[in-house]
Amino acid sequence: MSKETPAPSVDKTTGKQSQTKNIRKEQENFINFVTKYRNIKFPRLEFKSGELEAIMPYCKDPTGILQKHMDWIRKKQEFIISCLEAAKKLETVKRKKEQLESLINKILRRYYKDLNLKVNKVFYRKMRTKWASCSSKQNLTINTMMRHLPKRQIEYIIYHELVHMIEKKHNDRFWKLILKRFKNHKKMEMSLFSYWFLLNSI
Ligand SMILES: [Zn+2]
Repeated sequence: MSKETPAPSVDKTTGKQSQTKNIRKEQENFINFVTKYRNIKFPRLEFKSGELEAIMPYCKDPTGILQKHMDWIRKKQEFIISCLEAAKKLETVKRKKEQLESLINKILRRYYKDLNLKVNKVFYRKMRTKWASCSSKQNLTINTMMRHLPKRQIEYIIYHELVHMIEKKHNDRFWKLILKRFKNHKKMEMSLFSYWFLLNSI
């Protein structure tokens, strides 16, 4: 849970991207949402792309879970609206995958020295819930969507992940290490939420 650069992930249990055949657009208490039916035991709510999704086991009605979490849903929606508002001022970058890779290699080399560590392997793939992640085997996985981010944001994500190889949790020790390079990490985290919703809503 703590080993990822925050993206708007509500539910950390999603590993698979199941195919969704049954998609229904609906409204509950004036909240728009999409219902997706999957072969799962428990329902969950997600805001992966900025739109509310009720992920439901087959034949289950989403009304209950929506009503139960209505306050949370409204707060989340307000947050997303403010992120999208902030995103209007943001610029995205056009980079090819190869350009992203060479930039990341450069950044990695720099931070290896700073932190006195090295990652094992770097993987690139499109991820649905986070910008990047690191594993206990010291592997780093990069969301290819990062190619649209400005260099500073990419540096932050990489540094954040590398610091996780020293400290897994988002605790004082972790943020102290972050502060050494990024005094404005809160702003950075916010902008990454904005970019997330911006890029996922295009
Ligand atoms: Zn983290």
